[in-house]
Amino acid sequence: MRLNNVFDRYELFIVDLDGVLWRGNELIDGSIETINMLISLGKSVVFMTNNSTKSRATYVDTLKEAGVNEVYVEQVYNSAYALAKYISETKKRVRAFIVGEEGLRRELELVGVKTVCKPYLNIKANIVVVGLDRKLTYRKIAVAVKLIMEGSKYYACNTDATIPLEYGLAPGAGSIVSAISTASGREPEFIAGKPNTYMIDLCLRDYNVEREKVLLIGDRLDTDIKAARRAGIDSALVLTGVTRIEDLKNLENPPTYIIKSLSSICSTAKPLRYYS
Ligand SMILES: [Mg+2]
Repeated sequence: MRLNNVFDRYELFIVDLDGVLWRGNELIDGSIETINMLISLGKSVVFMTNNSTKSRATYVDTLKEAGVNEVYVEQVYNSAYALAKYISETKKRVRAFIVGEEGLRRELELVGVKTVCKPYLNIKANIVVVGLDRKLTYRKIAVAVKLIMEGSKYYACNTDATIPLEYGLAPGAGSIVSAISTASGREPEFIAGKPNTYMIDLCLRDYNVEREKVLLIGDRLDTDIKAARRAGIDSALVLTGVTRIEDLKNLENPPTYIIKSLSSICSTAKPLRYYS
């Protein structure tokens, strides 16, 4: 495997996970080999996902199990970590009610946020945080809505409508946020995930690389590519996730490159479409 010359000028590769490395439990062909090649070339690689179901440490284990040679917690930026970071930098004495999974709870507790997960109607919390929750119940939505209506802050990990799994698209955190917003009449005051640039900003603060030398690779136009554009970095859209080739007509905000899959950055062929 060799890196195509077009991509060799980048030093920091920000790689989305769902729809780029894998779909659910299924690895995408050549994705892990491509990551290992970038690492062996001495490129900086970070993993940036809107998915909040796992903690950063669990993502490290998952990436290692998938075959990534070397990966550390500092290379993982997910919306659970980003939201925890945001709360720790902006608020004190926080008690958060979580509509979300273990990864979100873990990241919040790592920064000292007290968390409540059990949906009792009489609980007290001054922030409601919402991420993907595959054990969502009506009661959880009801408690979140009650707290928000009583004046709690309302933060979301992301508003992705869907998430690509091995069998197709499944509801994403955005569908849960919508339910809570519809009932409460309020929208989240802060959204940690892409297309917000917060995770990219955190990453660029940690990695001292000029913006022209940063490439974000993702599968969603409305999150990955939009965030890259807002942050002023180049982007490559892969077609192994949510976006289909028929979605690419008359794009208002095209990515810098469109490639079939992550491993296409090693192909000697030119990227599928290339906007210079
Ligand atoms: Mg994705």
